[in-house]
Amino acid sequence: MFIEERCDLCGDCVFLCPYVDYDREQSIEQWRKLMEGETPEIVGQCVTCVACNQFCDKGANPFDLILKRQEETGVLNIPEQNTEVFRNLPDAPSQVIEGDADKPALSLCSVGDFVPGLFDGPLFAGMTVLKGGDYFCNMGWVHLGYETPVREGAQRVVDNLSATGATEIVFYHDDCYALLAAMVKDYGVEIPFRPVHIIEYLLDYVKEHGGEVTPLGMKVAYQQPCASRYTPWKDEQLDELFRLIGVERVEREYDRRYALCCGSPMVPRDREKANAIKKRNIDDAVEHGAQSMAYLCPLCVLNLRKRADAAGLENYHIIELVKKALGHGQ
Ligand code: SF4
Ligand code: SF4
Repeated sequence: MFIEERCDLCGDCVFLCPYVDYDREQSIEQWRKLMEGETPEIVGQCVTCVACNQFCDKGANPFDLILKRQEETGVLNIPEQNTEVFRNLPDAPSQVIEGDADKPALSLCSVGDFVPGLFDGPLFAGMTVLKGGDYFCNMGWVHLGYETPVREGAQRVVDNLSATGATEIVFYHDDCYALLAAMVKDYGVEIPFRPVHIIEYLLDYVKEHGGEVTPLGMKVAYQQPCASRYTPWKDEQLDELFRLIGVERVEREYDRRYALCCGSPMVPRDREKANAIKKRNIDDAVEHGAQSMAYLCPLCVLNLRKRADAAGLENYHIIELVKKALGHGQ
């Protein structure tokens, strides 16, 4: 939620946006117009990466106001076929694969099959797996310029997850974790289980199986998902995980605070701009000495892997890196 009283009109949110090129004065002007109820250019140019919520050191959440205006005006002009996909996802078939009651459950949202084979092997053995429409978090709507379906759908997904009786649920999809560990607080939705991010789960597993790790000695460029902006505390856990499996996260321009979106939100709106974002991202990884891309979000994998491959980079989901270090499935 945008907190107007915290905003001092410094303009950082627009000035630091990596997809536009306003000077300080122009940035302040864009923001002033937005706060006065207008729809300045930045609203339509916004890639929906959520980064400005972190750029604002006053904690005003500027992206939330941009998103509100995007929804009010429909300025992103998202084709109907794209919104239709999201409208239908909650009704897609669901599956519960029962596991051991004393293990946490694992929720895959609607994206569990995007990267095949990730959940095979001992790393997730015995966990109750939840997948499909009942567990779809709706967070993808943010990238279409809509917040209402996320808010209105939150109780449904919490109820479906709660019905499993699990006291801890591990979330594979960063979007789900953003909803359940951060956004539900704004929405006043109570959750009767502890949401555990996949990074935390992997970190605990690697610590418990430290004797089985063979350090990988790899240099990777990390592709931070946009949803991580809502839950930035995981980044230290990721650094520790990389350290324990012998992976160097190269210091590149587009990581951490200045991470770039994978480009997927721009695909339905402007394919040329999407491709330009992907190119900047992969070029940056190569220029900073990465051998591989390391991903958290399966959508980022789908959107960047071809271009990364063409640039001579290997592609790994972080689960694959952990499995490789543990010798699982090698
Ligand atoms: S929302 Fe934050 S970053 Fe943007 S103008 Fe206001 S105080 Fe500055
Ligand atoms: S959400 Fe991202 S693209 Fe949109 S204005 Fe903020 S920083 Fe720029």
